Amino acid sequence: MSALPIFIYSDRYNMDLGEHVFPSVKYRYIREALRQDERFSEHKFLEPLPLSYEEAASVHKKAYLEDLRELNFSKRVYRSELPLNRMIVDAFFLAAGGTLLAAEMALQHRLGMNLAGGFHHAFADHAEGFCYLNDVAIAIRVLQKQKRIRKALVIDLDVHQGNGTARIFRSSRSVYTFSVHEEKNYPPKEKGSLNVGLESGTSDEQYLEALEKNLEYIKSKFKPDLVVYVAGVDPYENDRLGGLSVSKEGMARRDILVRDYFQEVPMLAVLAGGYAINTQDTVDLHVQTCEVLAGFR
Ligand SMILES: [Zn+2]
Repeated sequence: MSALPIFIYSDRYNMDLGEHVFPSVKYRYIREALRQDERFSEHKFLEPLPLSYEEAASVHKKAYLEDLRELNFSKRVYRSELPLNRMIVDAFFLAAGGTLLAAEMALQHRLGMNLAGGFHHAFADHAEGFCYLNDVAIAIRVLQKQKRIRKALVIDLDVHQGNGTARIFRSSRSVYTFSVHEEKNYPPKEKGSLNVGLESGTSDEQYLEALEKNLEYIKSKFKPDLVVYVAGVDPYENDRLGGLSVSKEGMARRDILVRDYFQEVPMLAVLAGGYAINTQDTVDLHVQTCEVLAGFR
């Protein structure tokens, strides 16, 4: 693989959530780790612009976006399990802008990775599970509207199903939503194009086998113009919100499998979840995904 991935990052991705289980400090730590790693010295790190309201409206309902704009903690908002304030809303618009920019970079350079994003529990009309804006769905819709892509494949390997994304594209034939997740975990599952619910405790070999078998199947059925890799690292064995047992090495093999499966197709990658007991593990696992996409492993 010859293309250098383009990374998207802003210091303003970091939200101050206090003692919240969501370690938003990870964004800064990941960037710092890449900055200190000489192998990434040739890579571009671009600063995104915030998503526009119109771009957000390609997926989200007006009433819900109004709530976010007015900081109105309504019934559409409260299921985010996050506070609602200007800094947080701005961070979500910036992260979603980062995912859109990473998608554009993917189309130009083959690989674009946002060092944030993957807020796959956000629905068109409400927030859920630490997610206000469904950045992945927005990037796909915007590029489709601009006629820069026709078909997109979402490979969502966060331990939690991307219920918002699945619902948003439920009746779309141009977007294939594939999810491998832990069956007995949040959220209640939405019907996606292909849902693979794994038993709690699933470890490396079964996990990778399930992934590979289904990637093979999808490849025979669907020819995407863009692959979106939602690279959540919460299938990791020491995750607080995930019950799978995938080792650190297994997680690297997973990333390699995804990278190599659709080599000819532009790929957008986003971070999504990661709640390891030790936050440094979460950072290391996301950095590992960066290393794989950069071809260092
Ligand atoms: Zn997750």
